[in-house]
Amino acid sequence: MDFSLSTDQLQLQQVAHEFARKQIRPMAAEYDGRSDPKEAFPWEIYEKGNEIGFNKALIPEAFGGPGLGNLDLAIIIEELAWGDAGVALTYLAHWLALRPLINGGTDEQRSRFLAPVIADTDGHYLAAIAATEHGTAGDLSPRDHLRQRTDQRVGVTPEDFATNYTIPAAERRESTTTARLDGDHYVINGTKRFITNGPVASVYLVTATMDPSKPDAEATGCFMVAANTPGISIGKIENKMGHRLSKMSEVLFEDVCIPSSDRIPTEATIHGLASSTTNVGALCVGLARAAYEEALSYAKARYKGGNRIIFHQAISMKLADMAIGIKTGRLLTHLAAWENDQGKPLGASQYMAKVYCSDMALKVTLEAQQIFGGYGYMRDFPVEKWVRDARVCPIYDFTNEMLRVNHILPSIAFDPSA
Ligand SMILES: Cc1cc2nc3c(=O)[nH]c(=O)nc-3n(C[C@H](O)[C@H](O)[C@H](O)COP(=O)(O)OP(=O)(O)OC[C@H]3O[C@@H](n4cnc5c(N)ncnc54)[C@H](O)[C@@H]3O)c2cc1C
Repeated sequence: MDFSLSTDQLQLQQVAHEFARKQIRPMAAEYDGRSDPKEAFPWEIYEKGNEIGFNKALIPEAFGGPGLGNLDLAIIIEELAWGDAGVALTYLAHWLALRPLINGGTDEQRSRFLAPVIADTDGHYLAAIAATEHGTAGDLSPRDHLRQRTDQRVGVTPEDFATNYTIPAAERRESTTTARLDGDHYVINGTKRFITNGPVASVYLVTATMDPSKPDAEATGCFMVAANTPGISIGKIENKMGHRLSKMSEVLFEDVCIPSSDRIPTEATIHGLASSTTNVGALCVGLARAAYEEALSYAKARYKGGNRIIFHQAISMKLADMAIGIKTGRLLTHLAAWENDQGKPLGASQYMAKVYCSDMALKVTLEAQQIFGGYGYMRDFPVEKWVRDARVCPIYDFTNEMLRVNHILPSIAFDPSA
């Protein structure tokens, strides 16, 4: 068993770290502080990142890319997130949208959709995955709930609890975006929300039900859709608490007509989503590392209570626990990525890496804030940004509750060694 990175991987790590240090860190706070989310997307950073090739990283050599593996990508994402979590998320979402095409598309589909990424003449080529929808929470959508919260609520009675019944995953019909086959075309209708890169993407990977009368598990199709296809428009641009250097919006599809040949296998998307959770783990490690390094340096410098605060045991124990969490998270992330690279079936390790590292990042950034005392709460110190950035990690790319209950538990329940 050899845990050391290869020479190539160490070089990748260095390139990504230098990019984060020189191009991301000096600008991150300024962009993060912009109140209008439309102004917070730093094209100048992405243009330079795309010039280095971050948007081409996972494209196979046969299609003109470097064909990096999952461990390579985890190494890059950790460093980018050390610079800024939003920048890392932009690339993570871009890779996630392309991965199913790369793993499951035909050669014809791959040549057609990957050629513009390789060409990327203006350094603006990004992709997005459009899966999440408003859903059917009770009778109210989340936004209706927000509007009506003072005068109308969905009633849940004691009888509801007594007779409560959750529809099994295999029977759920929750997708409202539809893809209807019409001759040799699919016609897509629906609204997707919370789409990272939504307003800046050149191509979307869209999920939709091909038959609303059937459960989503049977009827979901996945489609590559160019962003300039007629009928696509951008809805609300979300004003996020953190990850502000990534841009997110609703994406609306109205009678969007695409060739039936642009459908890609649903299993490839499910596999891609599982792979991506490893990258979220790596993002969380990089983010936690940034906060830990700053807190360590502050604890060595701050003199209070008769000593430098690093020598107060309460503070030194926090720092030790933070370091343990980061190292454990990195090991789990690298294991999950390595298993993926070995072609092992994806499952518990990938989801565990996401759940563990996102909980860890939130804890570590909060502890860093505590070590900074009152200054940790001030906007001209960097720690409060990391807390805001970390808060979403247990929520996005499947909530940690969903992953624990629906993915990790079923894996370990039948195979305790998973
Ligand atoms: C910053 C950010 C970036 C995102 N980027 C993208 C993107 O690029 N593309 C995309 O398609 N989506 C994206 N999303 C959406 C994200 O994946 C969803 O927000 C997330 O999966 C949760 O879904 P939801 O918001 O509908 O919450 P809900 O599903 O409504 O969950 C509400 C609560 O109920 C719990 N819950 C729900 N179902 C279960 C269950 N079965 N078991 C136990 N608990 C449950 C949840 O854990 C949560 O606490 C992004 C979201 C954020 C915040």
